[in-house]
Amino acid sequence: MDDGRSIPAWNGRRSQDALAQVKARGKANNLPCCICEQPIDYDIPSSDPDGCSVQHPKSRALYPHLTWDPLNWAPEHLTCNKGEGTAATLAIGTTSRVW
Ligand SMILES: [Zn+2]
Repeated sequence: MDDGRSIPAWNGRRSQDALAQVKARGKANNLPCCICEQPIDYDIPSSDPDGCSVQHPKSRALYPHLTWDPLNWAPEHLTCNKGEGTAATLAIGTTSRVW
């Protein structure tokens, strides 16, 4: 299913390293969730619904080449992440979204 704008898979060792970096940066700077702007507890596991996950302020659907760019990583709650499907973003075509 390659339509010419395939999105790099966000998984494996690289995504774990990215998460570790985002958590370290978020904890050091006390960064809130980039979606709901509420504080994130960086000490709880990322598998927890309130745990830290990685958001791509520039959607991977629209900017697949920025998938692995650390400047395009921001901390967010796992639950907030779940509400941000790339497929949905693509379908709606929210190109004007400002973060
Ligand atoms: Zn949140």
